[in-house]
Amino acid sequence: MEQPARVLIVGSGPTGLTLALTLQRYGIEVRLIDRLEQPANLSKALAVWPASLEVLGSLGVGSAFERASVPLRQVTFGDGTQRLARIPMGEGIDSAYPQPILLPQSQTEAILAERFVKLGGTVERGVELIGLTEQADCVQAMLRHADGRTETTHAAWVVGADGARSAVRHALDIAFDGYTEAESYLLGDVHIDGTELDEHSIHLWWHNGGTIALFPFAQNVWRVISRRHDDVADERGEEPPTLEELQQNMTRHGPPGARLSAPGWMSTFRINERLAARYRSGRVFIAGDAAHIHSPAGGQGMNTGIQDAANLGWKLAYVIHGRGHAPTLLDSYEAERRPVARNVITNAARMLHVGMAPHALARVVRDAAVRVLDHMPALQHKLRTEMSETEIAYHDGPLVALGGATQHRARGAAGTRALEISWLGDTDDERRLWPLLNERHTLLVFGDGNPAQAPATLCAAPHAAALQTIAIGIAADPQGDARNRYGFDAAGWVLIRPDQVIAARGPEHDVTVLERYIQKVIAHDRV
Ligand SMILES: Cc1cc2nc3c(=O)[nH]c(=O)nc-3n(C[C@H](O)[C@H](O)[C@H](O)COP(=O)(O)OP(=O)(O)OC[C@H]3O[C@@H](n4cnc5c(N)ncnc54)[C@H](O)[C@@H]3O)c2cc1C
Repeated sequence: MEQPARVLIVGSGPTGLTLALTLQRYGIEVRLIDRLEQPANLSKALAVWPASLEVLGSLGVGSAFERASVPLRQVTFGDGTQRLARIPMGEGIDSAYPQPILLPQSQTEAILAERFVKLGGTVERGVELIGLTEQADCVQAMLRHADGRTETTHAAWVVGADGARSAVRHALDIAFDGYTEAESYLLGDVHIDGTELDEHSIHLWWHNGGTIALFPFAQNVWRVISRRHDDVADERGEEPPTLEELQQNMTRHGPPGARLSAPGWMSTFRINERLAARYRSGRVFIAGDAAHIHSPAGGQGMNTGIQDAANLGWKLAYVIHGRGHAPTLLDSYEAERRPVARNVITNAARMLHVGMAPHALARVVRDAAVRVLDHMPALQHKLRTEMSETEIAYHDGPLVALGGATQHRARGAAGTRALEISWLGDTDDERRLWPLLNERHTLLVFGDGNPAQAPATLCAAPHAAALQTIAIGIAADPQGDARNRYGFDAAGWVLIRPDQVIAARGPEHDVTVLERYIQKVIAHDRV
């Protein structure tokens, strides 16, 4: 008799793997399938931003990412022979992992898969989802194996992390509205010689009516992206570029003297800007590129998928373990993540149109704007903070409402990402919050007396399996730095979700919101 998997994850890209690892932390049985017989070896997404590194760090792979990657220290802009501006990256980013990194997507997937397998999981390759039927208390899935054999299986929940052409989204008949940009783009992974390029910088260069984007990701290995010229597009359509075509674009638009060699992955692509109308149908969800796709400008696609997975993972795990009110938890996934994707799509399209605009007037305006940017640290800070994704705040949905979030969304408020803090341990050693965050909720109690007697701590005690309490009294935080970071000048509490988002907060004497949240999200629903 078939033992249905608790969760069937379709697709072992970055989104599916992050979700699998997240569910694995809760001891949930996961079946992870991918139609590819071998892991993809394409470099695709290169940038991993601080908010994603926070998620990955909590899954135990932070140091593996740091070791394998190139730190992204700046973005450099130029026009012909002139360097127009430099934006330092990582500076002043309020995160436990402020430094963004560059790493080929194939390695991101390899690190995640290795961790999943090490902890007992299996990535089933050569298994394709070909159909889905929702049933009353489970989902029936039709699978095709690489040898042609078909299989009918059942799962309590299914998540489609199966990319832009998602079979799961099609099976649910979810609209994927949007548009396709008119132009074709060229991509090549190459060596570059003949010009001095900082290997810790992304370079955006324009000249002669075109733009070149250069991304370093190993020693003298660069991703080159540029728009295909219309005359070549008429002749060659969507054929991959030759090294000569890429070199011609580089010579016309890029840093002077740059010579390309050693071509690796060479491809053309069209850009789609699309958002799924829904993220859920009953027991089936979609996440990552299956739910949203957009221009790679800004490098947010994979990062958005990783954060979808972190958001959905703990909620699904709680529901499977009988914790919390299932509709509140599960409906909050789309309510929180879909608006984020809508913003990402809008911003990525804007960046693409500004960065790649070919006409001369646009170039003059752009040069002037970028020169100004070079002298405006506040604007630079705003840009790099936006790219870091650390200031993403959830505004909508039942969980945000439950946490009593206000329209005011400064960091530290409910709905925003948790802030890293440090305090003194019992032996005056430095304790930091981030390494202590785990698959449970974390209740920070800033006491001004004996923190063990704080009402919030008492309230939390019966739910220890899903809620850890960290009490930080005056002796541990004598200058009040930690509690000031969270905006308290007196005793108070902050509840942090397993995806490192602030769930709720309040003064020590008022735990009404906390009690309500615990009953609705953390306590067992079926006693
Ligand atoms: C050139 C380029 C540059 C990019 N740069 C960046 C960047 O710098 N930063 C960034 O964040 N993003 C970037 N992106 C976007 C990023 O690559 C995607 O957002 C990311 O791959 C999405 O991950 P995913 O896991 O959701 O989907 P995918 O990576 O598409 O994974 C889906 C998986 O599902 C499998 N699958 C599909 N259908 C089925 C089925 N029916 N049954 C079983 N398995 C199935 C596929 O084989 C695949 O392994 C870039 C993309 C491109 C093309």
